Amino acid sequence: MVARINYWFDTGNARLKMRSELPVSVDVVVIGGGIAGLSTIYHLLSHGVNAILLDKTDIGYHASGRSNGVVGFPSLLNVAGFDDAFYAVRLNNRLLRNIIKKETLACDFNYTGELQVAIDNSKLPPLKHDSILNLNRDDLSQIVPTQAFSHGVYLPVTNTLNMYQLLYGLCGICELTGQRLFGHVDVLQITKNQKGLMIHTSGKHKPIVCKQAVVCSNNFMYLFESGLNNVLCSVPVSAACTKPMADFPFLHMPIKILDSDIYLSFYNNRIFVDYSGDYDLSKLPLKSYFKQFGGYDFEYFWQGHVYHTPDHYPLVGRIDDNIFINTGHGRSGLSYAILGGKIISDCITNQTTNIKQASLFSPHRF
Ligand SMILES: Cc1cc2nc3c(=O)[nH]c(=O)nc-3n(C[C@H](O)[C@H](O)[C@H](O)COP(=O)(O)OP(=O)(O)OC[C@H]3O[C@@H](n4cnc5c(N)ncnc54)[C@H](O)[C@@H]3O)c2cc1C
Repeated sequence: MVARINYWFDTGNARLKMRSELPVSVDVVVIGGGIAGLSTIYHLLSHGVNAILLDKTDIGYHASGRSNGVVGFPSLLNVAGFDDAFYAVRLNNRLLRNIIKKETLACDFNYTGELQVAIDNSKLPPLKHDSILNLNRDDLSQIVPTQAFSHGVYLPVTNTLNMYQLLYGLCGICELTGQRLFGHVDVLQITKNQKGLMIHTSGKHKPIVCKQAVVCSNNFMYLFESGLNNVLCSVPVSAACTKPMADFPFLHMPIKILDSDIYLSFYNNRIFVDYSGDYDLSKLPLKSYFKQFGGYDFEYFWQGHVYHTPDHYPLVGRIDDNIFINTGHGRSGLSYAILGGKIISDCITNQTTNIKQASLFSPHRF
């Protein structure tokens, strides 16, 4: 059965739901309160920039509040430029760890690593990298008690965390300098006049005057369709849910079954299967692969539709003199969005960035 609950909001705290009077003017407006927007405003505020964030619903309510909390490799096995992706993920993770440590965010950050396994020999080419462990069927059966997988890789860079707690913590830190986050403000349009940018919102609010805007509203499909001109249309983001990672008696790490694009995760002795809304689950007899799970039931969750850019890298950078984007994170927001926020903040504060991975994410690369 497909469940459509949202774990984070069911167990969460109303702190992420915010309504208030909007300021008349501010230096930078960040649009979208998912992990991309929160990371961006976090970095801006830490540089003393006068910034606010607007979200049309509750902060964290869309993809970010539904994430599994796997901070790891995106679908990079299909992506060219493995080394670049690897180092970008590493840099992202280091930034994230530093933020968690510096701000003492209690978000159950764990070094778990990740198994990516294949049922069919053809699905996973051997990967050569010092940090990656290639595993054959026998190696795998020592870790996962099944003979179902022909081969796989162990990716040590992957970590897991509690996404709700991360969002919650970032919100708290951002508000240490006053009200910075505004929920239920739908941004309709950005225009320019002699004063700067005008951010037009729904409701009775007057347009907010600002110098720069950062679009983190996860609507990048429209960016492609409109040639980056019309940046503020809405995309229905997934109506799914998931549960946080936690221990299972013998397994502590997420497993991705490459042949199916399915993620298995474990929580309180229950087994959750995250799968793409398009995947036909009857193709994969999970119970027969994992006989050792005995009486446990698999619980299936619809992931909704998560769009990717053609090369699976996000779109991060300047799209116009005063407008920036940090979006297109697809299924890997935790792998790149923190780095994205830092790149944007560097651009805004120094007008340039020293992060060499920034060119990978350039919105003008296609
Ligand atoms: C079920 C599920 C599990 C996932 N698991 C993982 C995982 O384990 N690891 C991982 O790295 N990634 C995972 N992902 C993907 C990850 O959640 C996304 O990559 C990430 O959350 C994207 O963050 P974002 O800030 O770009 O977008 P979002 O979190 O969607 O935030 C965009 C925000 O913009 C706001 N917005 C939109 N339009 C407007 C507007 N006009 N005005 C104002 N605000 C607007 C929305 O309300 C929304 O809050 C998962 C996704 C799903 C659905």
